[in-house]
Amino acid sequence: MKQFSYIRATGARAAVRAYAAATVPAMYLGGGTNLTDLMRLGVAEPELLIDVSGLPDDQILGRRGGGLRIGAAVRNSDAAAHPLIRRDYPVLSQALLDGASGQLRNMATIGGNLLQRTRCAYFQDVTKPCNKRELGSGCPAITGDNRYLAILGHSDLCVATHPSDMAVALAVLNAVVTVEGPGGQRTIPIPGLHRLPGADPTRDTVLQPGELIVAVDLPALPDAARSVYRKVRRRASFSFAVVSVAAVLKLDGNSQIRDCRIALGGVAAAPWRATQAELALRGVPATEANFAAAAEAELSAARPLGENGYKVPLARDVLVRTLTDLAEAA
Ligand SMILES: Cc1cc2nc3c(=O)[nH]c(=O)nc-3n(C[C@H](O)[C@H](O)[C@H](O)COP(=O)(O)OP(=O)(O)OC[C@H]3O[C@@H](n4cnc5c(N)ncnc54)[C@H](O)[C@@H]3O)c2cc1C
Ligand code: SF4
Repeated sequence: MKQFSYIRATGARAAVRAYAAATVPAMYLGGGTNLTDLMRLGVAEPELLIDVSGLPDDQILGRRGGGLRIGAAVRNSDAAAHPLIRRDYPVLSQALLDGASGQLRNMATIGGNLLQRTRCAYFQDVTKPCNKRELGSGCPAITGDNRYLAILGHSDLCVATHPSDMAVALAVLNAVVTVEGPGGQRTIPIPGLHRLPGADPTRDTVLQPGELIVAVDLPALPDAARSVYRKVRRRASFSFAVVSVAAVLKLDGNSQIRDCRIALGGVAAAPWRATQAELALRGVPATEANFAAAAEAELSAARPLGENGYKVPLARDVLVRTLTDLAEAA
């Protein structure tokens, strides 16, 4: 591992100033559960770590007018167990609990979870080319082992998926991220934070260098009390999503769908908001046939790779089962 210096930031502004003043490549450090692995592998080589895991942004607070503000330094386990998140945003609590292991969730922060890097095996192996690490070097996954990679939104340069379960849940909760940067604060909605690879897979998000996530805001969302996260993974103990579904469903008294928000995980480089499925479902009866038609509408855009064609029927089936169960729980 390359040698590095370490400082502990005392506040968000101080962290951003330290980044701006750095004369060597710097990175923020949350719980370190992803970044230190990447440093050991030689994928990330910061010469200065600015520890933001102890910032005062480590609380979950009610917002004036409703909703919650989750500080970026809040640990994943604390967010998952928070009584208001469990009651009002169960999809988020479930997604957090479905991620990693208990020990990792105790370390991992909300900010770091959002910005963790893809688990594409080639990305993590510096002996292999990878356009995400070095643009122009190539993408061996396109013709290689792509069993767990993207079926939607990928480009000729990169077919990686985003690993965060939490981000998929946030995509159906109208969540907004607040970031502090050299020019002050700005807000970014999710979806909107993560980007698809396009012509530049090196950039996972729309964040500019030195921007620090300080909080995630959840609006008051009464419908979200009926929400769910379902994840298919290779083993039950801890494993990244092969396919996952986050859904919020609002029915009227006649079991017609008044509103719904659906996102897929494990299928793209960003949480995939299923807008075609949502469109197909608004105003129709909550039946398995309609859920199946909506899933087909969404997945007609899928472009599976050589080894991951199974993800298309898997995503369809998980989507239909999840929505059916959610409707029946009404
Ligand atoms: C064995 C294993 C299994 C896992 N399984 C899952 C899983 O199933 N689902 C899942 O979702 N995750 C899983 N994870 C990933 C885990 O959730 C992430 O490693 C964790 O959430 C990252 O948070 P962190 O605070 O440790 O981030 P760090 O490792 O500290 O940082 C990650 C990135 O975020 C940046 N960063 C950190 N905080 C900020 C901030 N406030 N502002 C700007 N940049 C910041 C860092 O510079 C770095 O680039 C797994 C991890 C392991 C090791
Ligand atoms: S899929 Fe993306 S991350 Fe994986 S090898 Fe290709 S360019 Fe790299």
